[in-house]
Amino acid sequence: EPRFGNMLQLFADTCGQHPDRVAVTYFDAQLTYRELDELSDGVAAHLAERGLAGGDRLAVYLQNIPQFVIALLAGWKCGAIVVPLNPMYRSHELTRILGDAQPVAAVSSEQGWHDVLAELAGPAGISTVLTTSELDLQTRDDERVLGSSSRRPAPECADLLDVARAGAGSPVPRADPDADDIALLVYTSGTSGVPKGATNTHGNLVFNSEGFRARTRGEQDGSGVFALAPLFHITGMVCQFGAALALGGRLDLVHRFEPGVVLDALAEHRPAYMIGPATAYMALMNHPKADREHFASLDLVYSGGAPLPSAVVESFRERFGHYVHNGYGLTETSATATSVPAHLEAPVDEDSGTLSVGIPTFNTVVRIVDDVGEDLPQGEVGEIVIEGPPVVPAYWNKPEETAAGIRDGRLHTGDVGFMDAQGWFYVVDRKKDMINASGFKVWPREVEDVLYTHPAVREVAVVGVPDQYRGETVKAYVSLRGEHSAEPEEFVDFCKQRMAAYKYPRTVEVLGELPKTATGKILRRELRGYRPDPAAAAPQHE
Ligand code: ATP
Repeated sequence: EPRFGNMLQLFADTCGQHPDRVAVTYFDAQLTYRELDELSDGVAAHLAERGLAGGDRLAVYLQNIPQFVIALLAGWKCGAIVVPLNPMYRSHELTRILGDAQPVAAVSSEQGWHDVLAELAGPAGISTVLTTSELDLQTRDDERVLGSSSRRPAPECADLLDVARAGAGSPVPRADPDADDIALLVYTSGTSGVPKGATNTHGNLVFNSEGFRARTRGEQDGSGVFALAPLFHITGMVCQFGAALALGGRLDLVHRFEPGVVLDALAEHRPAYMIGPATAYMALMNHPKADREHFASLDLVYSGGAPLPSAVVESFRERFGHYVHNGYGLTETSATATSVPAHLEAPVDEDSGTLSVGIPTFNTVVRIVDDVGEDLPQGEVGEIVIEGPPVVPAYWNKPEETAAGIRDGRLHTGDVGFMDAQGWFYVVDRKKDMINASGFKVWPREVEDVLYTHPAVREVAVVGVPDQYRGETVKAYVSLRGEHSAEPEEFVDFCKQRMAAYKYPRTVEVLGELPKTATGKILRRELRGYRPDPAAAAPQHE
């Protein structure tokens, strides 16, 4: 049974026990729990005075900076639903999300406001805006982090930190939401199409935040959780921010994921925990200055939100001495649905080489079902269905999608997987990414896992491409490790020697970078539509 009914109770508990502990670090700046409480009180008072009330939406359009956490707590103190917006989104994506979520207030970076949001806010019905300056990644000019900004906000906006400090005057709202009330409206990153808002309730978030402590060796000793994932994503929100609260610890932030900056920050803040997508671990390994010393303070390392090749786990351990624990979940499961317990290592399936994603979290039921929703026996491959406390109740404003995806509290994930005889789960791939080559099923992940064992490969994405004879055929895109060069044929041969004839990629193309979402997920969708153009540069990150 969760000890808290909502995230504010969890925050108040930590804050009450350890007011002087550091809650957030950001380069040289830091905030204690007491400071975080007071600053978010100030912002909450300001927002409440301007009408932000229970159930209203507050949009937050920021990178991983301390002001994000202040805004989040302030929104909750007003009883509002916080809508995190990917700071890389521009007008096309934002228009869709704002139209759906209909926020009445927003917190934005100054830049984001001037460049994009100012134009959209009026038509979207946003009447209250707070802006804040973001630290320039390279300058480390911490005066600007918590000091006053050099660029003045637009006249119609107030400055978040001014408001936070001036707050004392107005009465501070004290919402106490129910466990069923929505805390966060998190839009799926849209790797599969139109973004849908998953209604993460306070109960969902408390469950998974507390669950992180239960799953780790988590003493509430104030140790640090390093944020590799963005806070606007559910992994960042729960496994990083929620976990830090539940551990009575510290959230270590850097503006956004940049391997060199992350390595410096790890050495400086010496966190005990680190969570991020598999691609972040690959990028850290590929960085020339990375050595064991950078990771020396870590006690537990988790990867989640994207496939984790076992070859990556092995090389990370070899180079830096840490085993990366896999975890599986979706925006619709408030982050974690299955994970590898801290004291164990996940098995690797012998046939496919797939690393297990772990076992279901406490009270969570994971089933493997066939096309009509009937349970399949152990070992058989089918759709993964999840039910229990991490599953969100619905998609915002989308009764049809809710009826299709979340029936009677059971989430139909669209992922395909199986369970082994010991109860470990494996994610084979996404249902819709299956390649049909002459009637043979090829799961791109299996081919990717094989390519990841090639020493020259940094990242890989496998997709199906149209083929005159086979209907579809297998194609791989790879990017190489810094010091390596290789011809595409070498990779074709490498796979040919290791897998069935219908599976190995017929063509391999080497790219400088693979396209990714801001959360570090490789976008197969973009590569499916990618047409090689020798004159063009490699595709940009999303
Ligand atoms: P959209 O739902 O719009 O396509 P998205 O997939 O990026 O966006 P998320 O909720 O961030 O939305 O991602 C969840 C998906 O990520 C899962 O359905 C699964 O396919 C994949 N995933 C997460 N963790 C793992 C893991 N450990 N191993 C393999 N796949 C994973």
